[in-house]
Amino acid sequence: MANMQMNKTPMPEQDPQVRAGNFQEVALGYTLEQAQNEAKRCLNCKHKPCIGGCPVGIPIPVFIGKVAEGDLAGAYQLLSDANALPAISGRVCPQETQCEGVCVRGIKGEPVAIGRIERFVADWAAEHGLANVATAPKNGHKVAVIGSGPAGLTCAGELARMGYEVSVFEAFHTAGGVLTYGIPEFRLPKAIVAREVSNLEKMGVDIELNMVIGKVLTIPELFERGYEAVFIGSGAGLPMFMKIPGEGLVGVYSANEYLTRINLMKAYRPDSETPILHGKKVAVVGGGNVAMDAARCARRMGAEVHIVYRRSEAELPARLEEIHHAKEEGIIFDFLTNPISIEGDETGHVQSVTCVRMELGEPDDSGRRRPVVIPGSEFQMEVDTVIMALGTSPNPMSYEGTPGLEKTRKGCVAADEGGCTSCPNIFAGGDAAIGAATVILAMGAGKSAAKSIDRYISSKE
Ligand code: FAD
Ligand code: SF4
Repeated sequence: MANMQMNKTPMPEQDPQVRAGNFQEVALGYTLEQAQNEAKRCLNCKHKPCIGGCPVGIPIPVFIGKVAEGDLAGAYQLLSDANALPAISGRVCPQETQCEGVCVRGIKGEPVAIGRIERFVADWAAEHGLANVATAPKNGHKVAVIGSGPAGLTCAGELARMGYEVSVFEAFHTAGGVLTYGIPEFRLPKAIVAREVSNLEKMGVDIELNMVIGKVLTIPELFERGYEAVFIGSGAGLPMFMKIPGEGLVGVYSANEYLTRINLMKAYRPDSETPILHGKKVAVVGGGNVAMDAARCARRMGAEVHIVYRRSEAELPARLEEIHHAKEEGIIFDFLTNPISIEGDETGHVQSVTCVRMELGEPDDSGRRRPVVIPGSEFQMEVDTVIMALGTSPNPMSYEGTPGLEKTRKGCVAADEGGCTSCPNIFAGGDAAIGAATVILAMGAGKSAAKSIDRYISSKE
């Protein structure tokens, strides 16, 4: 008998007042009883639209059914066969626009909390020492993967499972891509990323750190070393700025730099050697997940934090849960506000930002109403730090100059089903191929590229 409770079973969280002062995980995860209560909300309905809504094709009602029955090892097996990084996607995948967005329980009430159940199963497996690291016997073929973000890790894991010898080349000293350097500890503990990476290593994936492809080795040199195919999963790490006066002042950061200092280099810890400004009043410009992450980090570093966003609350692109958490933690939202210049003091440090008020006009190409400046609305906000969270584009360093490789107008690798449109032995996916997107889309792209690589290499035999 299904549980017809209309709302999701709530997940315990740290108190907002307490967590605004620490970097420990906000959401605490389900107990077995809570996970089973939620699992029983699934109707195992006829068309199961949730499966089609999952880019990595998890057999959602079957694994949820195993949780309801209490067969957690069986649930983990099903989940991890389809998804190489379940503890990660259970925490940060935007389920509301994927599987949960199409769940039939969402028609009248809230959808089944698929992400929370996924997280519970992955954490339960780790606590019980289970890891799905079985692979086929080695097939004698070598593949190189550039970048260790969710696209690269998923592609590597899928290929290792099929018996390929896989090397992942990562520019940073730690694997994980945005999972490690971008998404903060309080949303995704780094020990969990390290655990998933270690599972891939147990499958035989070789991870080479501090290897900047395009500088240390080029793609043609990888082929010379015997790799038969290369997957480019180098992400979209180039930050954008507003091109307004004052962006060169001390105290102006891109969100990427600010988050990398805090997450990868642990600048939030008193013993860290990485310098960071402990701003008293911080303006974060932008309204996406990256802006929420930067704002919530600055809050935890002790600042009064303002999100400065040129449209209204209805257009905020961040996940609803992140906006809700940011508000609970005391972040102040200045909607319909846009910076036009940043001013410094005599030492070159930020001391204020000049903004204009906006109103919403006709819809633009994105379908959202275009923000229009209200004449004469200029005003100054006194701040000592400005963080630009306006989006990123791909850094072409790894593939620039590769003979025959086509790029899109936006500088992404031109790729189709994971295969590059121009070079049969080069594949690409995730943010490097589509621009900044989501963890689960990057994982889906890594998985489909692995299948394309397998087809390509098998076709040569
Ligand atoms: P990345 O994760 O960017 O990984 C690329 C890797 O390639 C990096 O490790 C990089 O160092 C490496 N690399 C780059 N160039 C080279 C080179 N020349 N040689 C070797 N290695 C190289 N998505 C969600 O679904 N949910 C969220 O909550 C969410 N929050 C986010 C928060 C932040 C702060 C950011 C920045 C993004 C967030 N996203 C979120 C988006 C999501 O993280 C990305 O879409 C996803 O990580 C893309 O995966 P990827 O593997 O393509 O690239
Ligand atoms: Fe269960 Fe919702 Fe999927 Fe139907 S759509 S099978 S109710 S999770």
